[in-house]
Amino acid sequence: MPKDTSDSRYDILFQPLRIGPKLAKNRFYQVPHCNGGGYRDPSAVVEMRRTKAEGGWGVIFTEQTEIHPTSEITPFIEQHLWDDRDIPALARMADAMKSHGALAGIQLAYSGINGPNLYSREVPLAVTGGPILTFTSDPVQARTMDREDIRDLRRWFRNAFRRSQTAGFDLICLYGAHGFGILQHFLSRNTNHRTDEYGGSLENRARFLREIVDEAREETKGELAISLRLSLHEAGEMGFSNAELRDFIEMHGDLPDIWDLAQGTWEACSGTSRFKPEGAQEDLVKGIKQLTSKPVVGVGRFTSADAMVRQIKAGILDFIGAARPSIADPFLPKKIEEGRFDDIRECIGCNICVSGDMTQGISRCTQNTAFMEEWRKGWHPERMHPKGKSESVLIVGAGPAGLEAAHILGKRGYQVTLAEATTQLGGRVARERTLPGLSAWGRVADYRAGQIAPMPNVQTYLDSRLTPDDILSFGIEHVAIATGCHWRRDAVARLHLHPIPTDPAMPVFTPDDLMSGGGPTAGTVLLYDDDHFYMGSVLAELLVQRGCTVHFVTPAVKVAEWTDNTLEQSTIQRRLSDLAVHIHLSHAPDTIHATAADLTCTWSGRTTTIPCDAVLMVTSRIPNDSLFHATRAQDWQAAGIASLKLIGDAAAPGPIAWATYAGRRYAEELDSPDRGDALSFRREIAELLPPVRLTP
Ligand code: ADP
Ligand code: SF4
Repeated sequence: MPKDTSDSRYDILFQPLRIGPKLAKNRFYQVPHCNGGGYRDPSAVVEMRRTKAEGGWGVIFTEQTEIHPTSEITPFIEQHLWDDRDIPALARMADAMKSHGALAGIQLAYSGINGPNLYSREVPLAVTGGPILTFTSDPVQARTMDREDIRDLRRWFRNAFRRSQTAGFDLICLYGAHGFGILQHFLSRNTNHRTDEYGGSLENRARFLREIVDEAREETKGELAISLRLSLHEAGEMGFSNAELRDFIEMHGDLPDIWDLAQGTWEACSGTSRFKPEGAQEDLVKGIKQLTSKPVVGVGRFTSADAMVRQIKAGILDFIGAARPSIADPFLPKKIEEGRFDDIRECIGCNICVSGDMTQGISRCTQNTAFMEEWRKGWHPERMHPKGKSESVLIVGAGPAGLEAAHILGKRGYQVTLAEATTQLGGRVARERTLPGLSAWGRVADYRAGQIAPMPNVQTYLDSRLTPDDILSFGIEHVAIATGCHWRRDAVARLHLHPIPTDPAMPVFTPDDLMSGGGPTAGTVLLYDDDHFYMGSVLAELLVQRGCTVHFVTPAVKVAEWTDNTLEQSTIQRRLSDLAVHIHLSHAPDTIHATAADLTCTWSGRTTTIPCDAVLMVTSRIPNDSLFHATRAQDWQAAGIASLKLIGDAAAPGPIAWATYAGRRYAEELDSPDRGDALSFRREIAELLPPVRLTP
């Protein structure tokens, strides 16, 4: 229900503000963010951005848009603006962004020393040549640009400015931040070793930026606003430090129409909630606004309206920049405007969205299950399809899958019965939120519990462990079993495909034991991690807190290796080192004795023995699917049940985002026609051009 906001203390967030020649309708600024779709899935990205427009954002940006094939970051999938043929997809994007009065922005990127050009096969060009600095350590070097190359690059930028304007954008963001963009490479003495007029003094290192901004204005006749996105702080003695950034802004305060400032590396800027609180960049950005007459936008995983207001009132920021909060809730501005604070779906800071880009899949969001499914599946972050012909649904299990299913079915208008064996909602997140650093994950349960609580058509029963007979006796039309999974105790996962010999005298624990308060509280614990995500390192921290000595053993070459995809790996490994955890990489236990474990090196096969008092297995999980199978073995159709489905971790254990997605999918597809073997999502297929004749 919209609320009268005329006396709201949040009004300041809704005051329009000029950005050069353009007027932003409010202070909500969706900074550029990747999505794993990019040029491959243009319509999926368009509809995703449209939901932000509908949700009230004042400024909405594309992701990184590569301006020329001499600089592209394959395998990562972003946007291309290589020639005029790329304009229509981006024009459709600009149009969607502007559909509700937002300003449409395009982020233009030339990656220099960061672009390996694996697809275009062009020689990479950099401010100063050297090995390409990517996540993937490609065996490729870039050539140092000479003056002619710099002139070429200026022309390529001009082409991109012209094409951006033709596509209908209002703002151009010149990408420097995160160490990814060539503008920052010019500014930083880490990446600029030049001795000509583009190197040396700060004035010289800033020359290219001055030229590019002037040319952007000239090419677009001053009609487009220009944003400079730079890092707030680059580490290292020669890095473009916060102090140097302040000098640069003091010298060039009026250069862009807006300063978009983001912390150092992408890892530092987009830290997870485990390591970074909301508003973590405040110290780095504070005071910069006083150096310039132009507005400043900064990020900080802001989901609290009070924190946003404080940033603006304290003169730290003019615009509240957001990527992840806008993904988790595209309607964040609207909900604040209407005073619907309980409806805000807060980002949990898990970086599963980032992992979609890092793995070149399409991104998903733990909280916003519609993210990147708007066009592919027709899902909307706020609206659901109307109810179909059935009436009633029983959901067994109130973890992320069951809660999301109940929430969406409730909004669709079904009579929903949600039965949960324990005395609390949330399933795995109710347990995992109690672990070190994971408290924000509880938002997955809190949001959904808050949404279903006032729904008269959703009945929740706690402390209700259902049996097959219970399920049959209810006679509810549709049944979804979302009973989750549990961790294995026998070391079986990726390396060991069969249980390893284990002396029963050795106490062996699983994450479930620790999460329910059990497990070791003293002595030496051997933690075997063949899961490679967050759980192993989180439990290592917990054991250290409890006073244990921890040996962290993994067959991988680094701790928690999949967390490279959530930008956490190096922070996790540093954290464990700081906690004096003994780290054994490329090793796995192959025999567990009564008071020790034999570890084998995965490369050499050599064995060492580690004395220990207990073993913690963080390996793989077993679905809790016995209720499903036992019910299915009975004549459930005769009991009046039309469908019986297994969803979430009970079907196949995965990250929390997989479970919320499964809940959404079940709820969205109920009563929809059977599509047979047809694809469950829309996709775009590359346009076919005439074949070429090869030289005989
Ligand atoms: P998911 O991630 O798929 O949602 P979770 O493990 O988080 O799975 O949640 C599963 C939930 O199902 C847990 O809260 C668990 O207590 C509940 N549950 C398991 N078996 C039953 C049952 N027989 N009846 C009711 N609830 C159950
Ligand atoms: Fe936030 Fe996680 Fe969603 Fe990303 S995936 S927007 S970090 S909740």
